Amino acid sequence: MKFLLYTVIIVVGLMQGCMTNPVTGRKSLDLVPASEMQSMSYTEYGTFLSSHKLSSNEEQSAMVTRVGTRIQKAVEAYMTQNKKSKNLNGFKWEFHLVEDPTVNAWCMPGGKVVVYTGIMPLIKNETDLAVVLGHEIAHAIANHGAERMSEGMVQQLGGVALSVAMSNKPAQTRALFAQAYNAGTQVGIMLPYSRLHESEADHMGLIFMSIAGYNPDEAINFWEGMKAASGGKGPNDLLSTHPSDDKRIADIKSWLPEVKQKYYKP
Ligand SMILES: [Zn+2]
Repeated sequence: MKFLLYTVIIVVGLMQGCMTNPVTGRKSLDLVPASEMQSMSYTEYGTFLSSHKLSSNEEQSAMVTRVGTRIQKAVEAYMTQNKKSKNLNGFKWEFHLVEDPTVNAWCMPGGKVVVYTGIMPLIKNETDLAVVLGHEIAHAIANHGAERMSEGMVQQLGGVALSVAMSNKPAQTRALFAQAYNAGTQVGIMLPYSRLHESEADHMGLIFMSIAGYNPDEAINFWEGMKAASGGKGPNDLLSTHPSDDKRIADIKSWLPEVKQKYYKP
């Protein structure tokens, strides 16, 4: 059965689409065109914002916009330098701090970012926020949600074309999107990203924060703090329940010399 599933994934992947990570070069299954992902993202983002209250803390809200915009400029600079600016076609960046006690943040396709007030007590300064936003924005730049959604489509909808799925099974398609982005306001399911995706987002986030002028060494302290804060909490992109927090920190330490040398110009 597993063999059959993998065969289907490979065949469908070859027939319909693959994407290459703009930073790591890894190839992944991608059945959902970026324009479709963005259009679903913009709808879900609007729904999320209309059912949540924006933070009334002007100072913190301004910090989210300021740091988010610096990471955005860094991503744009990286993409221009590497001749991959078309990966950002259709992006409509937005940054909001919402009232919600959950320790969380995410970025949906097209640069739609939300930070929850629940994470702010763990943010000591702008650099900590740059670690979070670099990581979350990296998930979007790497199209991790599209990859999760593509795998979900193969498993749950038999890998049918998205246009067919959307017209025949709109509820399932929407649920898959929500699950893929942990933005499950309708279904209430929060899935942690896989270890591979986490690792990619950590590495890319380190590069983006460095280009934005934040010292990437600070990422170590931040993740140490998150590790200490994560005891017993539910699955969540930032407070992971992975037993691999030490691996994450060790990986970041191993990437730092190269990242700093290539991208950090204080
Ligand atoms: Zn993550």
